[in-house]
Amino acid sequence: MNTIEKTIIKMLKSNRTYYASVIMQMDRVEHEGKHSAGIGFGGGRLVLYWSPTKFGEYTPDQREAVVEHEVRHVTHLHFAREGGRHHKLWNWATDIAINQFIKNLPPESLRPGFFDFPDRLSAEEYYELLQKKTGAISVPGNAEIDDHSKWGDIKEEDRAMAEEVAKEVVKNAISQGKLPHDLEDAVKDLMQKGQVPWNILLRRFVATAARTDFKYSWKRPSRRYGEDYKGKLTLRKLDIVVAIDTSGSIGNEEFQKFIAEVKALRSAYHSQVEIIECDAAVQKRYKLKRQVDTNFKGRGGTDFRPVFDAIKRCDVLLYLTDLYGTFPQKAPGYPVIWVSVTDAEVPWGRVIRIK
Ligand SMILES: [Zn+2]
Repeated sequence: MNTIEKTIIKMLKSNRTYYASVIMQMDRVEHEGKHSAGIGFGGGRLVLYWSPTKFGEYTPDQREAVVEHEVRHVTHLHFAREGGRHHKLWNWATDIAINQFIKNLPPESLRPGFFDFPDRLSAEEYYELLQKKTGAISVPGNAEIDDHSKWGDIKEEDRAMAEEVAKEVVKNAISQGKLPHDLEDAVKDLMQKGQVPWNILLRRFVATAARTDFKYSWKRPSRRYGEDYKGKLTLRKLDIVVAIDTSGSIGNEEFQKFIAEVKALRSAYHSQVEIIECDAAVQKRYKLKRQVDTNFKGRGGTDFRPVFDAIKRCDVLLYLTDLYGTFPQKAPGYPVIWVSVTDAEVPWGRVIRIK
């Protein structure tokens, strides 16, 4: 077991489940560098970069504190909120905003007192105060305990997706364990963040799946992660499979909206789209044509497994469903996007909710 895993276990045991749960939902990538850890976003997932050497040099309590530090950056969406701000100042402002709440951080970590700032302000407010400072300002090198450089790598068009993913991660973490009091406001803010229209999200997720250097699936955190991961959006021909749950609860209007988006994806990626109608068993398979007959066969129970038994490979599978059915235990080796008409949960894959 590595030191990150040990730290997670320790946090679970001491009832700090919220932090452990957020970290467990991220890809964890070993990355030796100047800092012990850092947050990034790639391939539609949050990524924790961490240095076994630097992280290992901390005491167990300090390791917990560093994990908490990273989770707070996620909860406050610091990694996606930099905008056009000055990178260095934003880095400091975000650390000042969160470190004051964290016990056992390495003593040199940045806090409001370093600049004689008041406590309990937001990162944006600390940023403004930093901007008002005259003359050159600097902090000792070891005051920066983590790496924020990956924040700048998040592309503008991926920002909304990163926010949605953070929302999803935080929501899951809250359902696992109690949210620390002083994070309640941050979570409220996060949940109120502008809802991204579902079709825009769908396009972004498919674009993520379509990147030619897309090397991992969405089923579990990957161990290895190319340092040079900078997914280029290349509109290569995509093999898209669309499964439709015909067991009853998909309204015709939702269905038509969904198919219109699928057709847009088909033209964007010059793709063939295969449609599979499934209730408790696969009822029909055909290529998407101009018209789709909505007089579906099958109105029985719902089982998602037959679709995954039938499809061994593809670039991305979209499943239109109410999510009430039997899931396969394991995710397949390709990305799956559940397009759902309900708020029900999934064991793996991405969910987009048509509202
Ligand atoms: Zn930080």
